[in-house]
Amino acid sequence: MQYALLDGVKTEALKGTQGTCIGCGKKVIAKCGSIKIHHWAHDVTAKCDSWWENETVWHREWKEKFPANFREVNFFDQKLQENHRADIHTAAGITIEVQNSSITLKELQAREAFYPKLIWIVNGLKFKGFKLLKALPQPNHPALENYEFRNSEHLSMIRKTDALHQNPNAEVLNFYHRDLNTIPITSEFYAFSWRNPHLAWLNAVCPVFIDLGGHFLYRLRTRYQVSENYRYLQLISKKSFLAKYAI
Ligand SMILES: [Zn+2]
Repeated sequence: MQYALLDGVKTEALKGTQGTCIGCGKKVIAKCGSIKIHHWAHDVTAKCDSWWENETVWHREWKEKFPANFREVNFFDQKLQENHRADIHTAAGITIEVQNSSITLKELQAREAFYPKLIWIVNGLKFKGFKLLKALPQPNHPALENYEFRNSEHLSMIRKTDALHQNPNAEVLNFYHRDLNTIPITSEFYAFSWRNPHLAWLNAVCPVFIDLGGHFLYRLRTRYQVSENYRYLQLISKKSFLAKYAI
């Protein structure tokens, strides 16, 4: 944890001190070594927040993009009878969970049910076999209404009528096809492939923003189709994300 109470004040870990956990009220010890980021830690035996994961530099960097009073905000969970510390809870009542490691679908759903307005930021650099592919046209472009995106590495389409009739001989079209070649390609929407997808993120109901490093986030989006739904990414700069939420 970045914060604990020291003489009743929310404070960052201070070498050689003991504080009080903002959640459970138990004793926590300042860990200020030279390898891990400075943090507060419970005794190994203490039971506090079962959703908490060990903090990394990546977590800390995200938290520090937000005002200090938005970081590590405590809520009591009546159902689980435990405290949860939201990584970030904004003045507008939005909770942002910054997640480095994978979680089970069960935990994801519990957390989505617990926080009324939740946004996930997940570390995409830890995904296995995740690849950003080509730029797409606006998936909701009116001219694409009667087409379905196929889940293939090279962007292709079939007509919706073929999808409805499950036509095994459906014509596969690409963007050079005369019916489609006037639809502009954007620099906002992207295809991706994910060899070993982490199913919890694909089943999230709350917005999921993937951080692949750099200046942008990629929001996981779904195009709902007659045939298999199509997943794609929407690019948003970290700057505009923060302009929206870090206030
Ligand atoms: Zn605690």
